[in-house]
Amino acid sequence: MTAPTTMQITGFRGDVIVPDHDDYDDVRAVWNRTVDRRPRLIARCSGSADVAAAVRFARDRDLEIAVRGGGHNVAGTAVCDDGIVIDLSAMSAVSVDPIDRRALVQGGALWGDVDHETQAHGLATTGGIVGHTGVGGLSLGGGIGWLMRKHGLTVDNLVEAEVVTSDGDIVRASANDHPDLFWALRGGGGNFGVVSSFRFALHPVGPSVMAGPVFWAAEDTTDVLRFYRDFVTDAPDELGTVIRLGTIPRLPVIDEELHFRPAIAVASCYAGPVEDGEHALRALREFGTPLVDLVGPTLYVDHQSGIDDTVPHGWHYYWKATNLTGLSDAVIAVVAEHAYAASSPRSYAAMFHMGGAVARVPRDATAYAGRDVAHNMSIDGVWLPDESGEHAAGETAWARRFLEALQPHRAGVYVNFLDSDDDTSRVREAYGDHTYRRLAEVKAKYDPENVFHNNKNIQPSTPA
Ligand SMILES: Cc1cc2nc3c(=O)[nH]c(=O)nc-3n(C[C@H](O)[C@H](O)[C@H](O)COP(=O)(O)OP(=O)(O)OC[C@H]3O[C@@H](n4cnc5c(N)ncnc54)[C@H](O)[C@@H]3O)c2cc1C
Repeated sequence: MTAPTTMQITGFRGDVIVPDHDDYDDVRAVWNRTVDRRPRLIARCSGSADVAAAVRFARDRDLEIAVRGGGHNVAGTAVCDDGIVIDLSAMSAVSVDPIDRRALVQGGALWGDVDHETQAHGLATTGGIVGHTGVGGLSLGGGIGWLMRKHGLTVDNLVEAEVVTSDGDIVRASANDHPDLFWALRGGGGNFGVVSSFRFALHPVGPSVMAGPVFWAAEDTTDVLRFYRDFVTDAPDELGTVIRLGTIPRLPVIDEELHFRPAIAVASCYAGPVEDGEHALRALREFGTPLVDLVGPTLYVDHQSGIDDTVPHGWHYYWKATNLTGLSDAVIAVVAEHAYAASSPRSYAAMFHMGGAVARVPRDATAYAGRDVAHNMSIDGVWLPDESGEHAAGETAWARRFLEALQPHRAGVYVNFLDSDDDTSRVREAYGDHTYRRLAEVKAKYDPENVFHNNKNIQPSTPA
């Protein structure tokens, strides 16, 4: 290992990684390989005091700041050029209080860390459906996942956060402390400070749940979606489902001969007794002629990491996203026409079924703005590290065309699914005018100089 150029941050105990460090290229890389930025230094924090020291260091030198949780955001906002990355990845501790049913989670933990610790007590909170996604970014944007229809969004389970503000102060935000900040953190993204820890409410889940995908041939897409539309209308809150349109992924549990065959999948997780899940999923599993049915009793913790290998770190990704109010025949026709038109067998579209507990929270209670939508969709172009510029152009064009075709049916967008070429108008689209204005006021109070702007940025409001 070469000796790194030293860069002293007063009061900092973690690692400081600068461009001549052997690990620099690994440490600056984020999930999406398309993002290739070169910060001046990466401050790998060991706790809240380090985060505060790093914020003050950057402010004193007028440095660009990027904040890294899990490094998963497709837009790559966790890393910046020529500035400082406040890297929370070494802050990944999770401690569970099984009596009060609370988990204290450091700001750089991944969902796999949370599920591992909470499931040891038969507990869980709503997290993302891929284990290597960061808790930080996902929670601050809202947090959708298998458990949301029963237990609410991730933000609906947030009871307290410790936040390092743009002045380098450490404050606590909850319903009683800094309630305006607490409201904004629950959907407003990384705009208001660096969250060094989250405290979440937990619920009994599993350890076994009825879960898994059923795949049908792509030709059956229209019929499957029409059936699914009715099936989920009366679905119990316990049933979380996500549609995946693309090809059958190359997973060891699936016969090799089916790999990469164009297909529609309905993946599910029943957050209740396995027998009830069996009953709730029977009609879906009996519909039409599935190519493969992988639904069965499975450990919740395993289900949470089941598709991790299909979206690994280091591939190229390009996303377009939209919410949908429903699956009308017209929407289904667009989806059936475009879903399989990508050239890469790894590109896919995913549609999360919303509703249930998500829709029952009052609209003004949190900054998350998509509570009325029926489905949350992302169109995900994927190509391999060694694939050429032609692939990039092809997958990007496919995702854009698909979104364009959905234009008449769109109903806002989930802020966490926006990509780097989604401009500020799409951030406004994500929140709507009313919530955006309220967020801008909180931003003006906690970060008036917009120090935290490498994110889905909320501009601080200017006093009237
Ligand atoms: C494969 C994959 C699957 C996904 N699945 C889901 C899903 O099931 N449900 C869902 O809701 N979303 C999902 N997402 C989207 C996900 O919510 C966002 O990508 C989110 O930004 C990831 O958080 P992160 O901490 O890993 O991001 P990072 O890239 O590290 O950070 C993104 C931004 O979040 C902010 N940030 C991160 N951590 C902190 C912190 N501790 N304090 C302050 N600001 C912070 C910063 O502004 C940063 O720029 C998925 C993404 C991917 C790539």
